[in-house]
Amino acid sequence: MKVFNIASIPGDGIGKEVVPAAKHVLEVLAEIHGGLRFEFTDFPWDCHYYLENGSMMPEDGLETLKPYDAIFLGAVGNKKLVPDHISLWGLLIKIRREFEQVINLRPAKMFHGVKSPLANPKDFDLIVVRENSEGEYSSIGGRIYQGEDEIAIQNGVFSRKGTERAIRFAFELAKKRNRHVTSATKSNGIYHSMPFWDEVFEDVAKDYPNVKTESQHIDALAAFFVTRPEQFDVIVGSNLFGDILTDIGAAIMGSVGIAPAANINVNGKYPSMFEPVHGSAPDIVGQGIANPIGQIWTAKMMLDHFGEEELGEVLLDVVESVLKDGFLTPDVGGQSTTKEVTDEVIARLQAKQ
Ligand code: ATP
Ligand code: MG
Repeated sequence: MKVFNIASIPGDGIGKEVVPAAKHVLEVLAEIHGGLRFEFTDFPWDCHYYLENGSMMPEDGLETLKPYDAIFLGAVGNKKLVPDHISLWGLLIKIRREFEQVINLRPAKMFHGVKSPLANPKDFDLIVVRENSEGEYSSIGGRIYQGEDEIAIQNGVFSRKGTERAIRFAFELAKKRNRHVTSATKSNGIYHSMPFWDEVFEDVAKDYPNVKTESQHIDALAAFFVTRPEQFDVIVGSNLFGDILTDIGAAIMGSVGIAPAANINVNGKYPSMFEPVHGSAPDIVGQGIANPIGQIWTAKMMLDHFGEEELGEVLLDVVESVLKDGFLTPDVGGQSTTKEVTDEVIARLQAKQ
């Protein structure tokens, strides 16, 4: 029996509604598989915890999380109780940084039954690999002079190790998918870092002769995500470019409520963290209408990470069929509740047994 130990942090708002739903789905999947088990440990670290304890997690919180195989997180943040920068930096960003989760992964896929803002969407199925630790989001730089002469200078930091790590990750992923990697660049406008990025991309590509490659400038690429997303498979981008592309990816799917994400620790020293793209959605909390698909699809990414890709595929197929048959929460144009959608996913999984 394979056992996966998972630290579960439902967090704030609808995180408390969608995490239990996705955990239930995972437990049913384990039953179907027969040879594996998920052991969940719940951690009540949220904004209420902060109000009582003065921090988002205990001082030894990271030590506590370290031995787990993965962290399964809902959403963090409740502006009414705690300013966002405190809640996010005290939990989410702390975990991402300390656990060296240097890659952010976000797939986007067309689901029949979910209305996309694209006029004539073809079947697209892509995944963005975002470098998540350096690049444009550095704190190096500053301001000089004052008044009308004031100048702000922002330095991007691209290490060979960090750049290569992200690009190699994309190629490894492409081997398991459709063997196509697109590099997001801007070497026609950004003088130092982007030609460097291109150089590393070409170097790494040499190790993967069976993977097709393409390089696109970020402005054109952003447009292509809208006009022809079906032509992409794996896209790799810097911190900033990846950030932009992943939001477009979530948008063309139709709702932030279905978009999943993973923060990957590549060296295996620390657990990776799986959390959907959406936030705590305070406007709909407690109504029972939060879309559970983002969290459930996030669970599928965790299964992939565990090497249980087949089981993940079973789950994603069921999710697709459930959406196609109209089990939709209000954010995707339906009237179903969180429970109805989750129950339908579970029923269809059980029917496969
Ligand atoms: P945060 O600061 O927590 O990121 P936000 O407002 O930026 O908050 P979300 O919490 O993701 O982002 O909410 C954005 C909008 O999307 C809200 O109207 C919310 O109700 C909706 N939304 C987010 N997630 C879901 C979901 N799972 N199901 C239904 N609607 C959702
Ligand atoms: Mg947000």
